[in-house]
Parts: sequence; C-alpha cells; structure tokens
Amino acid sequence: MTDTQTTPQEGTTPAKICKKCNASIPKYAESCPNCGANLKPVYKKGWFWVLIVLLVLLVGIGGCSAACSKAVLDSTNTLSTEDGNAPSAKSSSEGADAQDSSSSSAEAKYSITDEQLVDKGYGMYSITGTFTNTSGKQYSYVQVEYVLKDASGAQIGTGFANTNNLADGTPWKFEAYCSNSTDEAPASFELSDVTGW
Ligand SMILES: [Zn+2]
Repeated sequence: MTDTQTTPQEGTTPAKICKKCNASIPKYAESCPNCGANLKPVYKKGWFWVLIVLLVLLVGIGGCSAACSKAVLDSTNTLSTEDGNAPSAKSSSEGADAQDSSSSSAEAKYSITDEQLVDKGYGMYSITGTFTNTSGKQYSYVQVEYVLKDASGAQIGTGFANTNNLADGTPWKFEAYCSNSTDEAPASFELSDVTGW
C-alpha cells in the first residue's frame, strides 16, 4: 500500500481525521481514540464491495458446480438404476454389444488357416497363415499373436502381425515375425491372442 503519500502527516505516523470529532488519529485505527467512533466501515467500505462481488462469483461458481455435479450424480444414478432394474433383456443385449467390441468375441468371428512356422535363416523364424474375417463387418484393426515353445514346452519367443481395414470375408495372408531367446529351433508354436475391432 502507498497510502502514506496522500495522507496528512503527523511526524512519521500516517494519520487521518476522525469524521465525527475531527481529531487527527492514526490512519489504521479501527476506532477513534478520541471519541470512540467505530471507523471500520469507513475504510472497509471498498473491501466490503469487493467481498460482495467475490461472494457473488463464488456462489455462482459453487452453485454451477454443485448443479453440474448433481447432474452427473443424477445421470450416474439413472444409469445404475437402469442396470439394476433391467438385469434381463437390456443388460444381456448390452453385454453382447460390449463383447462385440472386445477382443474375446473376435475369436468367433474369424478363421485362421495354413499356419506354418517358417525358418527365415540366421536363427529367425516367422509364422505365416491366412486370417479370414467372418465377422460380417470390416475390422478396422486385427492383430494375431503367437508364442514359440521349445521341445520341453518352455516359451522361447513371441511373434505378432497386424493389419488394418480388413473387409468382411477377406483373407489376410499374414506373417508374424518372431523373437527367439534361444539358439534352438522352436519345436512348436501357439496362437496366444487375437485382437480385432
Ligand atoms: Zn473521533
């Protein structure tokens, strides 16, 4: 604050004039030492209005956020209520819809044929095969994943291949390049996962 520059000086103490008794009193006195007048409201008037504005804003924001969160709660309650009230037909159909977009349901909507382990030389292997989309719709993305095993059944590597925009009924000739953490040839391979949506 730089109030001192506009304040009448008495020595070095900032001072003001009491509006009731006209005594020169310390500027920051909350009541007049001479007449005892309560001076608080006079110099707090500005702050009072600032506080009013702030309060209005806070109440507005608080009211909005309260209303918004109430709306969220209401919709949440509505959703959970619907789920709770209709566990039979609606939930099962929703479950089916949800499974459509999950990877697990993709297993029933494709076929994989002609899988072969291919020795690429230099210790590199891949698995080739044909993935056919039988979902009745186009897959935006498909990925097949394999694991390689040695003769003891230990996992020694993995491989995967993926593609985009595979139309219904269209075969995809894939080649899944594999890692191999050993020097030995894989004894077997297994399809470990199919992701599709
Ligand atoms: Zn006074």
